[in-house]
Amino acid sequence: MSRIVYLDNNATTQMAPEVLEAVMQAESSVFGNASSMHTFGRRASALVEDARSNVADLLACDPSEITFTSGASEANNTVFMIAKSIIEKNGKGRIVTTTIEHPSIIETVRYLRTLGIQVDQAPVGNDGRVIMSEFEKLMGPDVVLVSVMTGNNETGSIQEIGKISELAHKVGALMHTDATQAIGKIEVSCKAWNLDYLSCSGHKFYGPKGVGVLYARKGVPFMPFVHGGEQEHGRRAGTYNTTAIYGLGIAAKLAKEGIEAESKQLWAMREKLREGILANIPDVVVNGCQEHCLPGTLDVSFANVEGESILLMLDMSGIAVSTGSACATGSLEPSYVLLAGGLDVELAHGSIRFSFGRYNTMEDVDYVIEVLPAIIKRLRAISTR
Ligand code: PMP
Repeated sequence: MSRIVYLDNNATTQMAPEVLEAVMQAESSVFGNASSMHTFGRRASALVEDARSNVADLLACDPSEITFTSGASEANNTVFMIAKSIIEKNGKGRIVTTTIEHPSIIETVRYLRTLGIQVDQAPVGNDGRVIMSEFEKLMGPDVVLVSVMTGNNETGSIQEIGKISELAHKVGALMHTDATQAIGKIEVSCKAWNLDYLSCSGHKFYGPKGVGVLYARKGVPFMPFVHGGEQEHGRRAGTYNTTAIYGLGIAAKLAKEGIEAESKQLWAMREKLREGILANIPDVVVNGCQEHCLPGTLDVSFANVEGESILLMLDMSGIAVSTGSACATGSLEPSYVLLAGGLDVELAHGSIRFSFGRYNTMEDVDYVIEVLPAIIKRLRAISTR
């Protein structure tokens, strides 16, 4: 049996056919600039507002609290730059985040530190979850912003956002979460978690790429990251990518309607693969928290093999997965997320992330279990490690 199996849904998802159709239809009939006052502009603007209302429904907030961006990276950068301007204005203040955030936060932290801004990173335990006692030690009246991701893109570990938000507010800090990987998989509620800011990206939940969302609670500090226009009430300059925003809105509607059935389906596939791997392959470690985990994410380390070799062999069998490694200038660095969770460097080198999506089936899992044990066996036989 040979098939094509896409198990890299945390990297990006295929656009839902409903989204694709809506985007194509809008693309062929609506071309006006959504900021124009004439009929063409108003038609385009109606699509943006339709999306705003769908997104607000999904995130449990008011449509006026939604700003469309180019993605979660921009939304994350915007929030950290807001904190920077507060700290600079007050001449004091501190940011608290974690060691396992997405690079759009980790690199921003690095940049802010070069400007002399203090940013503390709360550590995580073996399960990839923030160690709450350590986090609490970092709280204090000088904290301006707390930013903790909802679910991790590599391990899938879910954080206690409601509790963290409560602790942040107790010391008067603003609370942000990067919910990019959690949307459509677990309930994400700005209201229930009492959030001040939230970021997400359309292409992670079957919407178009290059479009995302920044939720900012009514009344919280706001500074545009992209200057130069009055779009989004002066919060984000740049001509609206009308049809992509509209598509994101359709994706948000589908995510809200399908979340319960979908997360069950994702978890069932993930668990079947986890059990299949454990039953058929020796010397493996399943990474992250197995209790509080995004339903479609499974991260596994295979001892004495390179993740990249596994990835390439799986690719030859038609299976797309990812490694935690970032290939930079020819050197393969192990995943900082896995290392932050205390995983041994050698094991981190042999890790593979399988991430399921709406269009995967149980037959996909069967196929992986059919081909993976032989691949690991072959690679271990030639391994020099
Ligand atoms: N945050 C997380 C947790 C992500 O997984 C990603 C995408 N990998 C981003 C932010 C950035 O999203 P985008 O590239 O669409 O801006």
